[in-house]
Amino acid sequence: MTTGPFPGGRSAAVSLTYDDCLPCHRLAVAPALSARGLLGTFYCPASSGDLHANVESWRAVARSGHELGNHSCFHPCRRREGATWPDPAYDLKTYTRRRIVDELHLAERVLQLVDGNDRRSYAATCGNTTVGPDGAEESFVDDLRRFATVVRSGRGGVQPLRKPDFVLGSHSADGKDAAATIAAIEPVLASGGWLLIEMHGVGAGSHGLFVAEDQHTRILDWIAERSVVLWAGTVSGVAAQLDAM
Ligand SMILES: [Zn+2]
Repeated sequence: MTTGPFPGGRSAAVSLTYDDCLPCHRLAVAPALSARGLLGTFYCPASSGDLHANVESWRAVARSGHELGNHSCFHPCRRREGATWPDPAYDLKTYTRRRIVDELHLAERVLQLVDGNDRRSYAATCGNTTVGPDGAEESFVDDLRRFATVVRSGRGGVQPLRKPDFVLGSHSADGKDAAATIAAIEPVLASGGWLLIEMHGVGAGSHGLFVAEDQHTRILDWIAERSVVLWAGTVSGVAAQLDAM
């Protein structure tokens, strides 16, 4: 008998998150999660062509209990010296706080039209939570508190069983084999807590950053086999359970 804060008294949670609104997310990943009773969070830029062309398909993902997370409209990032991406028009170094807040609100409204929800988590694009030139960065984290449940930004390990921080780090599974990601989840089972896992594509060709298809399947199977003690919930879902502790 366990008495943890998560459904069924479980004390261990993992949130599988997938960035950038890719076709494989709605066609293969969400069904694979649902088939195992797992929930995931999909971070969709509101400018995504796949979202616009397949609204009903993405709506079905949300109706299955998965979360559509905010990931801005145009995926702006702080452009590094010599980098070819993002387009200079979407360099956060040239954004004002007003501009990013307007963009994030619009993204929120677009996703609301898809899933009907008025609160969701936000995944910081490239992990960035500041605008303005290097050396004079201005954070927009406080602006996010008005509508984001929590923010996923940067790297981090196991979150303890307490009211969650507003900004949470994650373990990146892109380019790693299943054993490495499973090794990152195991401490959650041992001590209780919550681990966020960040992924982009699943399968070669789906995204520049991806988890191989067979490795992804192994991760899902490993989690599903431990579902009595490990809850795979959405980022907002797990955060809400911890908030209610
Ligand atoms: Zn992204």
